[in-house]
Amino acid sequence: MTPEASAFQSHPSPIGIYIHIPFCEKKCFYCDFYSLENHSQRDSFINALVKEISMFKQIYGQRKADTIFFGGGTPSLLSPSELELVLSAISGTFQIAENPEFTLECNPGTVDTAHLSEYRSLGVNRLSFGVQSFFDDELKFLSRIHNAEEAVSAVAKARKAGFTNVNIDMIYALPGQTVERLTANMEKALSLETEHISAYSLIVEPGTPLNAAVEKGEIKPAPESSEADMYERVMSTMEDRGLIHYEISNYSRPGYQCKHNLKYWNAQSYASFGPSAHSYLNGQRWWNVSSLTSYLSDIDAGIIPVSARETLSPSQILDEYVLLHLRQGLLDSSELESLFTVSIPDDTIEELQEGGYCDYNGQVILLTRRGFRLCEEISARILSRLADPA
Ligand code: SF4
Repeated sequence: MTPEASAFQSHPSPIGIYIHIPFCEKKCFYCDFYSLENHSQRDSFINALVKEISMFKQIYGQRKADTIFFGGGTPSLLSPSELELVLSAISGTFQIAENPEFTLECNPGTVDTAHLSEYRSLGVNRLSFGVQSFFDDELKFLSRIHNAEEAVSAVAKARKAGFTNVNIDMIYALPGQTVERLTANMEKALSLETEHISAYSLIVEPGTPLNAAVEKGEIKPAPESSEADMYERVMSTMEDRGLIHYEISNYSRPGYQCKHNLKYWNAQSYASFGPSAHSYLNGQRWWNVSSLTSYLSDIDAGIIPVSARETLSPSQILDEYVLLHLRQGLLDSSELESLFTVSIPDDTIEELQEGGYCDYNGQVILLTRRGFRLCEEISARILSRLADPA
């Protein structure tokens, strides 16, 4: 690996901070994130989280951070005073940059304007709502606690509370969903004029009740061909309305790309706290235990609650570089060459162009919609053909 590739691995710029809140009012049947319906250990969790954040400084010193992201789980279950406690641990541990991007994920079924206003005054400046659909029957299928009307009103409450940077998450390719329904969902999402929309296809994750229902034959997932058609429709609808498609599942108004998520996608450093949270710092990745009980007992014993660590090998770093850049729709062949001393053969680029998967301006591969659809295959093809520079 060249020194430049090492720089890609341990980026010197400010890091991101992720906080995982492991509680939900009700577990959604498709979700494999670590979260609990039982909130009895919530106070102990907040105390442990504060302790875990403070422990970071003893190991890594005071790092500068410019993004904060509360995810989960359901961070909007936090009372403003709980949020304030966690924030004071963050500001005692990190040097927070001026005007950080500060996102809090919200369940549309758990927000009210007063709470949102208090979050705003504590510095939260970006909200991300797990809307998923604007059809009540689809929301019921997904076992969400909110209905379509509450989703619309959550965004209105966010505006009333002064938020000018709002994301909504949508899910498509539900079993039996038609392209017409998908389009109506996207149109409704666009009509709310949020700054950002994320749209993910429904994934059947192992270990979820959805997976069990699919295995028993009770639910038939959307066929791959209709999922691909729907993805094309999502991309065209968003782009036609002026949103920038800046990551495989993410669209934003100009200037509103999520800075925190861009750290993940550009392999920049982030420190994460809470059960199951993943961190990446100094070329090393680690993840916390996915059990609140183990998390609490580790913290109580003064142990960092890490489940496992890995140091990325040079080939893993290269693989991730190519895939993560293609997921953002572009791969700079000159940068690849200078960072990793490898080049993409001309005939591979020509083949991708002829297949309608990308455009190429002599330096940057730009994926077409068709290319976005087959991003992982394209990444594998490029990686299998990399050669020494001519
Ligand atoms: S609200 Fe979100 S995190 Fe909680 S169970 Fe549902 S999808 Fe998962």
